Amino acid sequence: MSSPPEGRLDPAVLKAAGGVRAHYAAGRLAVVQPGADGRRAASELRLHAAATLRQWRWRAAQPYAPECLTLNLSNRCNLACRYCFSAHDGRNNSPVLRDPAILAAAAALVAGHCREKGLPFQLVVHGGGEPTLHWEEMEQAVAVTRAAAGAAGIGWRSYIATNGVMDEDRCRWLAANFTGIGLSCDGPPDVQDRQRAAAGGAPTSAAIERTARCLRELGCDFSIRATITPATVERQPAIVAWLHQTLGATRIRFEPVYRAGAAAIAAAADPAAESATDAAAVAESAPDAVELPNPPPWNRPNMRTDPSRLCDR
Ligand code: SF4
Repeated sequence: MSSPPEGRLDPAVLKAAGGVRAHYAAGRLAVVQPGADGRRAASELRLHAAATLRQWRWRAAQPYAPECLTLNLSNRCNLACRYCFSAHDGRNNSPVLRDPAILAAAAALVAGHCREKGLPFQLVVHGGGEPTLHWEEMEQAVAVTRAAAGAAGIGWRSYIATNGVMDEDRCRWLAANFTGIGLSCDGPPDVQDRQRAAAGGAPTSAAIERTARCLRELGCDFSIRATITPATVERQPAIVAWLHQTLGATRIRFEPVYRAGAAAIAAAADPAAESATDAAAVAESAPDAVELPNPPPWNRPNMRTDPSRLCDR
């Protein structure tokens, strides 16, 4: 871990366009609308900055003892989502972990720390790309980490984040080999096919429905992550209803799109808050209760942030 940052905690004004001001401090960006008093935002930012600094210093002082092995297998993908955060750096150019010795060493390290802490081994296979495109490496990761957990005498848990565009055989394998699956789907076909088309432009909604049906039939524990964009911000109730009724999701996570730009996100904030509240009501009234852990990403403080901008700085 790098050294904790030193210096000012005071928020810095990053830009002022059309009367909108953006203030930044240690991991937070606040957008202040024209004519609004920015003092409250500034004071909240100072508090967040101080808390972030305290946490960072505490973590930097801890010995390195990972409890989870997270693999980002590469940034290759079979989809071309309009907002993809990895596409702008050039796709298909990241290295792929192919050396079993590295994987085994990492798994043994994590297994040792999990055993000391009385935890099960946790494997997370993640994107930045679509991990199932690296099928052999993924099978290998499952086998190697299971073996490491077995050798350490601890349990094994696993989670994979996938775009869900795969055939049924692969879907069955995932269901049998991962204890948790996160499926990305932005909503009904008109939304999914517009925002998350295949790399060649083909629709993907039918494939997602097939994957969700397959997972449901196998009794698999899956959740759905939906990215909310300015185009869908007012459709959150309908999206919750569709994900629940058509895909059978009982756990849904909404995340705001990260590359819309601060102005677009701020402009969407107010209708978003109302739409999020309605979405929560839809979730609560579903017959078998839908978990919507973060219906208010749009009305919590970082609704008005643009993480892609933070990363650029
Ligand atoms: S599935 Fe993920 S990695 Fe692939 S294009 Fe969409 S956002 Fe990017």
